[in-house]
Amino acid sequence: MTAKTESSNFYPQPATGSSRPFWRTTPHALDNHRTTENLPSETDILIIGGGYAGASTAYHLFQEGSAPRVVLLEARELCSGATGRNGGHLRPDLYAITSKYAERYGLEAAVEVVRFEMSHLKEIANLVEKENIDCEFTLARSLDIYMDEDELAKRKEFVDYLRVQGLDFMDDVKYMSEQEVQEKAHVRNAKGGFSFSAGHLWPYKLITQLITIALSHGLNLQTHTQVLEIGSTRKNGLWPVTTNRGTINAQKIILATNAFTKALAPEYSQAIIPCKGLCTQIEAAPGKPFQRLPETYAIRHGPGAFIYQISRKDGSIIVGGAQYRYKDDLGVWYDNSDDGSLIPQVEGYFDGYMQRTFFGWEDSGAVVKHKWTGVMGYSADSLPHVGEVPEKPGQFIAAGFNGHGMPVVFLSAKGVAKMALKRVSFKETGLPRLFETSIERLDPIYNDIFG
Ligand SMILES: Cc1cc2nc3c(=O)[nH]c(=O)nc-3n(C[C@H](O)[C@H](O)[C@H](O)COP(=O)(O)OP(=O)(O)OC[C@H]3O[C@@H](n4cnc5c(N)ncnc54)[C@H](O)[C@@H]3O)c2cc1C
Repeated sequence: MTAKTESSNFYPQPATGSSRPFWRTTPHALDNHRTTENLPSETDILIIGGGYAGASTAYHLFQEGSAPRVVLLEARELCSGATGRNGGHLRPDLYAITSKYAERYGLEAAVEVVRFEMSHLKEIANLVEKENIDCEFTLARSLDIYMDEDELAKRKEFVDYLRVQGLDFMDDVKYMSEQEVQEKAHVRNAKGGFSFSAGHLWPYKLITQLITIALSHGLNLQTHTQVLEIGSTRKNGLWPVTTNRGTINAQKIILATNAFTKALAPEYSQAIIPCKGLCTQIEAAPGKPFQRLPETYAIRHGPGAFIYQISRKDGSIIVGGAQYRYKDDLGVWYDNSDDGSLIPQVEGYFDGYMQRTFFGWEDSGAVVKHKWTGVMGYSADSLPHVGEVPEKPGQFIAAGFNGHGMPVVFLSAKGVAKMALKRVSFKETGLPRLFETSIERLDPIYNDIFG
């Protein structure tokens, strides 16, 4: 059953026209799905949010052996938030933000995060194979390229420090000289870099297939159903949840609302901020020559100036970032949840980007075919919030995944599903300790968003 709803002024409407993401150009049959015509009045577990976190949680809930009543509410179309608008880059961070975490929390805690992110590569590969998911999942090397010598030197110092610690995963990190990054990575004016294992995929396809599996186990999906409020107290053990289509009472709630979390859980208003970003799809002109770029890229133009990029099998490029071009203009991105419009300051940045950046693209005639925006849930301390919401027993959260959810969300959702289902503690889930949501983290001492 499909349904379209009335518009709402609580959230921005889905992108239309030029801001439609490439990934969503052909909507899946479940895009506007409602499993039942009416909203159920009661459920065991209510998931709010139909992106990577919500879909993964739904998938895991049914893999854990029991069959609870699970309802998933999505305000707009399925996978129409950040997940349907991202770069498709599944790229664990082995050393970049690790230095920050190591400095703040110690190396052991920082390394837990690295190992967790790396495990997503294998986990998603296994998932795709086991469930026969067609999402163009591809393993690749990720090339971390530095245009600035000082930044490269600083990063190399930390990479060398990690090597000295005898950390096995550092064997995967290969240093690339200036000559190598220009000849093998084909990046003009690059000073050097590193490479390590990563992957990429079609996020919308992954999510719609995870939901298909969950539906086959009994999930009730309700798209175009916006949660307006979660009641402040439980009645008969159930949390009353008000939506634009009536009330549903839930024993457990899982907030998979990412950037939009604070609307339902105001205690997260300092901890998770909606921040807008832009992404594009670029294609060479038909018949024109261009250098194939089989690897994925992060290109760093200076501290905080970052471009991410993957190559699709058809040779087209998904590339985004360039936040440094508009970072000072807070209103266009910070606390901005409008993914229906572009970002004027960077709208033209990717025109000619491939020709400017890569050897072998000079005569490609490459043009931007699609550009779109999406809203990320930036967390003040760069870490996601996962676990039981403080002082709200039976409410859980998996949100605040920054611009970096692909190697983090799937197993975070598994942990939350276990907590909601089996009443295991956060510690028993085996998730990185730094991810645990807590009262202390709701009043953040860091503000990495401007850093
Ligand atoms: C432009 C862009 C590029 C990115 N590139 C990458 C990348 O290459 N690699 C990477 O790792 N990460 C990337 N990210 C980040 C990544 O997409 C996110 O971290 C990840 O998708 C988060 O998944 P999620 O399910 O938590 O959030 P979302 O996909 O945003 O899902 C949350 C859902 O909750 C729904 N919702 C919210 N409030 C309510 C409510 N009140 N009622 C009902 N429904 C509600 C929303 O409509 C939304 O669909 C990028 C993000 C953007 C925006």
